[in-house]
Amino acid sequence: MSRVVITGGAGFLGSHLCERALAEGHEVVCVDNLVTGRLENVKHLLHRDDFELVEHDVSKPYEIEGAVDYILHFASPASPIDYLELPIQTLKVGSLGTHNSLGLAKAKGARFFLASTSEVYGDPLEHPQKETYWGNVNPVGPRGVYDEAKRFAEAMTMAYHRYHGVDVRIVRIFNTYGPRMRLRDGRVVPAFVQQALTGEPMTVFGEGRQTRSFCYVSDLIEGIWRLLMSDLPLPCNIGNPHEMTILEFAETIKAAVGSSSPIVFKPLPVDDPHTRQPDITQAREKLGWEPKVSLAEGLRSTIEYFRAALEEQGAFAGKARV
Ligand code: NAD
Ligand code: UDP
Repeated sequence: MSRVVITGGAGFLGSHLCERALAEGHEVVCVDNLVTGRLENVKHLLHRDDFELVEHDVSKPYEIEGAVDYILHFASPASPIDYLELPIQTLKVGSLGTHNSLGLAKAKGARFFLASTSEVYGDPLEHPQKETYWGNVNPVGPRGVYDEAKRFAEAMTMAYHRYHGVDVRIVRIFNTYGPRMRLRDGRVVPAFVQQALTGEPMTVFGEGRQTRSFCYVSDLIEGIWRLLMSDLPLPCNIGNPHEMTILEFAETIKAAVGSSSPIVFKPLPVDDPHTRQPDITQAREKLGWEPKVSLAEGLRSTIEYFRAALEEQGAFAGKARV
């Protein structure tokens, strides 16, 4: 049995990853300060002998007793609303948090796996984005706190690999959605689904002509697991290449919910990337991975999840349920 440390393990992706690691027969130590994650995401795992939750801010040095085989560094605010509210913490967890986690990997002789992002490509001038593209990021814009933290994290990871011989993997995750996203984390999927379900106006930013490519969480976790077990030290894109405009996406969610919410237009946030689509040739060829879950299927389970979450909060009290 191997022992896996997952930073950010109580978040949306981290909690699915904890489950996957346990299902693969590993022991899991989840390290999370719950700044954007929730205890509820891992509550069902707390009774297990092979699962441990350590509440800690990984931007501060930390130690884990005993052997560790893998360190998966997923801790970081990830929604634009979260990282704009927590700019310094975001820069710290991408820099100091990555440094501390790499130091732990080096001390334990563990493989280090970094959760990076398509945001390292910024507002891309190459389309779709291949791993060889260096990106177009505004370092001093509001989103720079996240993009540059992740770019630094990649550089630090490669330095530990080259200088200290640490075994590393880097995944560049493209927009992923599914159950356990926070209802009000501000990302487009929870925002549109909640608005559609409650009959509120659906807030499309700009004219909605910017594009994104949405990957369902189970596909992403499968890609991450294959990359973790591969021998690829250089960054690998994992995402769904099915690209659409945000306006089309709003209309798709509205139809999937059967909602009568109006679509309204709000100002486009500063530096919001115009396009985003992963080139997944490397993942296809080297990991034998590609996404399997259609948007319709993925949205179905996500809508059910948010419907239940809203019901629990009494959001439909006195209102017709969509
Ligand atoms: P999330 O906010 O749900 O999860 C992040 C987790 O990290 C939370 O549980 C939070 O409490 C924890 N955390 C943050 N700072 C911490 C710190 N200093 N110490 C300890 N724990 C800390 O977000 P998510 O969508 O699950 O994202 C997880 C990771 O994947 C992030 O690194 C994010 O940058 C990356 N990512 C996600 C997406 C996506 O579409 N979901 C896309 C690209 C990259
Ligand atoms: N977006 C939107 N309405 C919302 C939230 C987001 O139109 O209520 C847009 C946002 O401007 C961006 C896209 O949806 O173009 C994806 O936003 P998200 O915050 O989910 O992630 P990003 O890809 O920007 O990191």
